[in-house]
Amino acid sequence: MKTFGYVAQSPEAPLAPFDFDRRSLRPNDVAMEVLYCGICHSDLHQARNDWGWSSYPLVPGHEIVGRVTEVGPAVTRYRPGDTVAVGCMVDSCLDCDQCRRGEEQLCRFACTQTYNDRDRITKEPTFGGYSKHLVVREEFALRVPSGLDLARVAPLLCAGITTYSPLRTWKAGPGSRVGVIGLGGLGHMAVKLAAGMGAEVTVLSRSPDKEADALALGATRLLVSSDPAAMQAAASSLDLIIDTVPVRHDVDAYMPLLDIDGTLVLVGQLGPMGEFSSLPLLTGRRRISGSPIGGIAETQEMLDFCAERNILPDCEMIRMEQINEAFVRLERADVRYRFVIDMASLRS
Ligand code: NAP
Ligand code: ZN
Repeated sequence: MKTFGYVAQSPEAPLAPFDFDRRSLRPNDVAMEVLYCGICHSDLHQARNDWGWSSYPLVPGHEIVGRVTEVGPAVTRYRPGDTVAVGCMVDSCLDCDQCRRGEEQLCRFACTQTYNDRDRITKEPTFGGYSKHLVVREEFALRVPSGLDLARVAPLLCAGITTYSPLRTWKAGPGSRVGVIGLGGLGHMAVKLAAGMGAEVTVLSRSPDKEADALALGATRLLVSSDPAAMQAAASSLDLIIDTVPVRHDVDAYMPLLDIDGTLVLVGQLGPMGEFSSLPLLTGRRRISGSPIGGIAETQEMLDFCAERNILPDCEMIRMEQINEAFVRLERADVRYRFVIDMASLRS
């Protein structure tokens, strides 16, 4: 199938229009027209090869909402016209112990990423949602609950599940005290979701001017991380911290905020973190962990949870040709709180 989108051809090149082919439908594939695609900081990291494993040409985009246009003969779950969503994975072995328990993101043979990866069968590069059409096996397409504002659903597929999953794993809920470091795309979803689960939420931010937003999103307070007095006064006041900072940073400043047995979960920086002190870990049995997106069943659970409570990201809609400007603003943390591309703006 001929399609088109926007591509990075090298770490330095601005994204530019790109014509390419999607595979012909396999029996268990669904084809969709992409309606909206969120812009995750991971798209920027990978377009620029920040993690060192980018392969070009690279079409980013893993927060995708679309309408099914065609299905393969073995597809049972979807029909043309259905609204579906695709996140960071498009395939996995579906047979190992992790896949069998619905943790495809932890597949023993590595799940296939929506872009910057290789198709399991043809070994051709995978291309993401900054494009007009997508083909995906039906097991990796999510059902979008009816009634949701489709323009705002896309960021749930990465920012939503990446924060929902650790909140569930560490049992956020009534009586728990959750901290969120970095009020960006992931961070603002973490606040909404944790508050939706009944937890008390504290935002830890470099940006004092985000305080009113933090409270409106459902937090009870914002602590400015560069304010030592405020940080000290909040010692031992949190059970769980979701750390969304997208670069290498010092966790020592945050660990004393955790109570005994508290956990700081890294979901932002992928790679070296530098030194940290074991003192707060040993003295308070505190932990540092990490968490990658979430499984397909949990992603569906998150979509249904958001639909029941009408939890949606705060989005700034852009046209596809504004992508390079959006990347510059994302780098500066100048987005409140997620850019979403309206794919109707792509030429046809
Ligand atoms: P984002 O929208 O840019 O938000 C990041 C926030 O972190 C910013 O709004 C800012 O908040 C804070 N921040 C930015 N630069 C900082 C710095 N140099 N030092 C300290 N704080 C800083 O990014 P995002 O889309 O939420 O993504 C965040 C990270 O998660 C990215 O690295 C992305 O690759 C990663 N990610 C991981 C997974 C996973 O599976 N674990 C999934 C998706 C994304 P304040 O202004 O409030 O300080
Ligand atoms: Zn993402």
